[in-house]
Amino acid sequence: MTDKMTVHMARLDELWQAYQAAPAASAFADIVLALHGLGEELTRLHLLRVARICQGIEALALGYMDDQQHPSTPAQMGAFVRQLDTLRAATELFSPRAQDQRLISDQVNWAAPRRIIILGSPGDGHEEFLPLLDTIRQIGFEVEELGEVDTIAPVRRSHIAALLLPPAAAREEALLGWVQKARQLCPYTQLVLRTPSSDMEMQVALLRAGVDVLLQQDEGSEQVVRLLLELTEVHETSTYRVMVVEDSKVASTIIQRTLREQGIESEAVRNPAEVLDRLNSYQPDLVLMDMQMPKLDGIEATRVIRQQRRWRSLPIVYLSGEQHIARQIEALRLGGDQFLGKPFHPIMLAAIIKASIDRYRTAQRHTQIDGLSGLLMHDVALQRLELLMVAAGERPLSIAMLDIDHFKAINDSYGHPMGDRVIMALAWLLRGKLRSSDLIARFGGEEFLLALPGADAATAESVVDHLRERFSAHLHSKEQSLLRASFSAGIAVYRPGMKIEALLERADAALLQAKQQGRNQVVLDVSGDNPC
Ligand code: GH3
Ligand code: MG
Ligand code: MG
Ligand code: MG
Repeated sequence: MTDKMTVHMARLDELWQAYQAAPAASAFADIVLALHGLGEELTRLHLLRVARICQGIEALALGYMDDQQHPSTPAQMGAFVRQLDTLRAATELFSPRAQDQRLISDQVNWAAPRRIIILGSPGDGHEEFLPLLDTIRQIGFEVEELGEVDTIAPVRRSHIAALLLPPAAAREEALLGWVQKARQLCPYTQLVLRTPSSDMEMQVALLRAGVDVLLQQDEGSEQVVRLLLELTEVHETSTYRVMVVEDSKVASTIIQRTLREQGIESEAVRNPAEVLDRLNSYQPDLVLMDMQMPKLDGIEATRVIRQQRRWRSLPIVYLSGEQHIARQIEALRLGGDQFLGKPFHPIMLAAIIKASIDRYRTAQRHTQIDGLSGLLMHDVALQRLELLMVAAGERPLSIAMLDIDHFKAINDSYGHPMGDRVIMALAWLLRGKLRSSDLIARFGGEEFLLALPGADAATAESVVDHLRERFSAHLHSKEQSLLRASFSAGIAVYRPGMKIEALLERADAALLQAKQQGRNQVVLDVSGDNPC
């Protein structure tokens, strides 16, 4: 999972050596770009503490670039080297080599367990966290309880998150001291603490002392599980796709080259009259729009784009030599999101583009995710599955259709809230145990769809059967009720040329068979070997 990070760091070291051998402004600019790329990868991996170190060095480097283009005094060089050393040490901690040699893709532990540490003790007035710890273990986290911060050695290991359980009775000063110690013990781990009071000053003091995430007092254990899943879930990066609308061939060539150097894909449109057609064929994540163009200017093109429902929230950034403030304001008022002047700073341009796209994608994600389970909804799941089928190539791809057994009876006997609780537990287990590259969707009420790229029939069967076993052993509780539930599953393997409907039908037929054979089991579709 973290190889890409190692590659980025190695590249950075290489560039740094080249720069030391021949210090030149252009060589230093390459280092800044490499730092930027590493920072993004660290953010994607949720190594936010390490990402912040990296971004700090990038800011330092950008400062040198503004002044004399690169570090010019021995003191500046020295400061830069020290920071790079800190960064290298931090990334090495999270490199796969430094981690325990675990099987990441054996069939049972399809994904490596995510590791959480507990600092402090639930016995210190945090008894309500005990069932929570059970739950997060059950859904596949590896929980390590380290005990008191006074007695343990620094935890320089690759844990993404730590839940802090300081003595509940500690007074303000003592609590802050305790948090500072925790921060020193785990310099690269995200610290999560339930705030002891809703007082604003206290919360600021806790954040200053090193807490990263403050749980509010009214946030129950469900929110804590959600938070931990979110903190540790790695979203797949998709490429950034930008449509450059620019009448000048020279300008668009320069812009496209800059974007390419920053890892951004692009397509240029020289004639703004073609914008609508090209939007539909290229499906960009952002439009970079020139202002002055013959026949139809950038503001008018933007207004037309905004008439289409599907492009209403697509980020549109103006890149233009337009000097008049009034025209710039007009451009923003009529549908643009940002205004950048020419000439542009390549790193600024890339940073603004990527940040806008990330924000757009986050907003889109919220409309695609089911609130109860945190999983993809039906229609988006189908779109993603089609993409996975296209991308499969020679690699195997299996899907599974899951359906909770006798769910109506659970609702009828224990009430709807208990039913919801069971749905959530299955969703958490799937999110906790599957890889970030797997598709997990809530397909309907108590039905789930999985797609496992790279899994052949045998692998998919054993992965899903392992989930089934885990889920059926799970004890669900809400208030005074306790119960066990199970699911049945049908698995089908994608064959090149197969239509999505046929694939889903096969999984459905296998699921039906699992139900008929007595439920709580996994059935593999065997009709899939003669493609239709
Ligand atoms: P089988 O083992 O054959 O799958 O039986 P079943 O009872 O699970 O299947 P059935 O399709 O008859 O019942 C599904 C029930 O799921 C009916 C519906 O009320 C309930 N349901 C659907 N969505 C939700 C939800 O979000 N929350 C709760 N609590 N119940 C839901
Ligand atoms: Mg122009
Ligand atoms: Mg059903
Ligand atoms: Mg059912």
